Amino acid sequence: MKPPRFDYATPTTVTEAVALLKQHDTEAKILAGGQSLVPLLNMRLTRPGILIDLGRIPELNYIREADGAIVIGAMTTKRSVEDSDLVKSRQPLLHAATVLIGHVAIRNRGTVGGSLAHADPAAEYPAVAVALDAELRAMGPNGARSIKAADFYVSYLTTALEPTEILTEVRFPVLPSGAGWSCMEVARRHGDFAMAGAMVTVTLARDGRCSAARIVLFGVGAVPLRAAAAEQVVIGQKPSEKVFQDAGQKAADAAEEPMSDTHASAEYRRYLAQVMTRRALAEAVSRAGRAA
Ligand SMILES: Cc1cc2nc3c(=O)[nH]c(=O)nc-3n(C[C@H](O)[C@H](O)[C@H](O)COP(=O)(O)OP(=O)(O)OC[C@H]3O[C@@H](n4cnc5c(N)ncnc54)[C@H](O)[C@@H]3O)c2cc1C
Repeated sequence: MKPPRFDYATPTTVTEAVALLKQHDTEAKILAGGQSLVPLLNMRLTRPGILIDLGRIPELNYIREADGAIVIGAMTTKRSVEDSDLVKSRQPLLHAATVLIGHVAIRNRGTVGGSLAHADPAAEYPAVAVALDAELRAMGPNGARSIKAADFYVSYLTTALEPTEILTEVRFPVLPSGAGWSCMEVARRHGDFAMAGAMVTVTLARDGRCSAARIVLFGVGAVPLRAAAAEQVVIGQKPSEKVFQDAGQKAADAAEEPMSDTHASAEYRRYLAQVMTRRALAEAVSRAGRAA
């Protein structure tokens, strides 16, 4: 199918892009890598009057370390993240999640900002952002603002961004030294969206007890789901299969309303939440052990 007619603008600065968004308001749609938007256009599930292509704004394309975080411009491609030695060494959870996204061709075009803003509940980046307590930066007609990842995801494909705002940057805080991490998911085929998955970070105290943990599920609800009750099962305990199993059960309980579709039933997704949490905790703890 072909998309409906639309106008097309190619701003070269963020200021120019925001002015265009303000001018066209809800008629406008931002185009980043097009890996989600173009199929939606072709299927006529969205009919913007104008596409504002961010692809010619160099100031949105960078990866650097600053103030204890890996800072990434919204138009940086996933392939650049995958190839980045800085990400590999300083933010390995982000790197591990990146290589699970689609295929190389998709990661060549798809952007970090596009994935975060599209807010697919089964996507890896929104879950990594919540797991790492990332901060997202947006620019709109009233200036710049920061939004915590946990507040950014509102509902299915819906974020806290205003229609006239552009996501410009994401800051992923670097994990404390010795922290362990894991990203586990189940997809039907390599490159498919996950049916469900879990992102986990853990820190171990000197006595081997778990002093901090974050567990975030994806693919089991409308937004990335922080499994706080599961975290509480782990914190203060010496890691063991029993602790991981109990935490997995709490994570499954937290997944109150997983979707049922042709890929997986709600019941199966809840089961995956339990298994992925258990396995991700075990892997994260094994990494924390090695790093301590
Ligand atoms: C076959 C296939 C398999 C895939 N598998 C996966 C997968 O396993 N995991 C996964 O996470 N994704 C997967 N994807 C989706 C892919 O990661 C997309 O790249 C991503 O969802 C959107 O990024 P994009 O840069 O292409 O954005 P676009 O498609 O250009 O835009 C997506 C949406 O975000 C908005 N947007 C984009 N950038 C901004 C911005 N800076 N500020 C505000 N709004 C913005 C757009 O207006 C649009 O609504 C897959 C895609 C395909 C085609």
